[in-house]
Amino acid sequence: MRRNVVLLGAGVMGQGLARHFHRAEFQVAVVDKSPVALERMKHSLPELTIAQDLTELSDEWKSPDLVIEAIPEILALKADLLARAEAFFSPHVLIASNTSGLTTADLCRDMRHPERLAIAHFFNPADVIPVVELVASAQMPAERLQQLADLLRASGKEPAVLRRELPGFVANRIQHAMMRECLHLLDQGVADAETIDSIVRWSLGVRMAFTGPFAQRDLNGLDTHLNIAHYLYPELSAARTPSEILQAKVAEGALGRKSGAGFYKWDQTTLARAKAAEAALEALIRQETQGASGVAQQGEQD
Ligand code: NAD
Repeated sequence: MRRNVVLLGAGVMGQGLARHFHRAEFQVAVVDKSPVALERMKHSLPELTIAQDLTELSDEWKSPDLVIEAIPEILALKADLLARAEAFFSPHVLIASNTSGLTTADLCRDMRHPERLAIAHFFNPADVIPVVELVASAQMPAERLQQLADLLRASGKEPAVLRRELPGFVANRIQHAMMRECLHLLDQGVADAETIDSIVRWSLGVRMAFTGPFAQRDLNGLDTHLNIAHYLYPELSAARTPSEILQAKVAEGALGRKSGAGFYKWDQTTLARAKAAEAALEALIRQETQGASGVAQQGEQD
């Protein structure tokens, strides 16, 4: 029998999730209050079931293998929809939130059965990036989270279970620590965005495609890392508020690709180049996740 999943939200993440589960041969239903978002989804994947509200789903959708919430990162919206989802779906159905960093304790505040809630943090594009960070609510039994991990692995993902939850989980904490320093370098006029991108891309970036930070440090030597850490840590940004450059960009509407400009200008040429790079990344990920371990392929690096 085909597995099935209900996606709540047909935005950036909902679209990627729909492509992922469709490719994994799940039956997919998508609920979004925006007819435009649903139309876009139906246009790219005509086989999907779509609905503007949970109550429009037929009874056969009341017991899916999984429900994933992917609506905007606004706690009040999410808490309300999760409580409605709990009342709509059969009691045994597991509900996962794709929040970027909110905690289950906050998300389940209006739920009567928080043991049904977990976080399944997919990365964008959700049909390409393998890892999904998983966090159980305090009330969820370990075996239920294991069921979720097994289901996602069966769909082709690499679930990573966190032992306890904290805001931002693992990846967003690391991403924001790195971006705080990148923006600090930019604020200080040390280099422009293009130069910083080039340095990161062709040093840390390429090797991180094949090895994690700890394995990479083992390769370098922990004594060397410690010597550097002693003098460098006091020099690094410890800013408690977002950088001025970032705040100014957002204030002027330079939001990145979606507005045509961010740190770069996005026109047809630069967009085509970025899309070609993304296609190459997707091919690399598929080759790596279907073939040999990446760590085994690392060479001598510094
Ligand atoms: P988005 O704004 O692109 O899409 C959200 C969709 O939810 C919209 O189509 C909207 O119409 C719909 N929606 C709003 N309220 C609704 C409701 N009550 N019921 C049904 N549909 C509703 O957002 P996104 O970028 O897809 O992000 C979704 C979630 O995923 C957020 O929690 C975000 O933090 C997280 N996330 C985003 C990314 C990313 O790179 N965009 C990556 C990882 C996680």
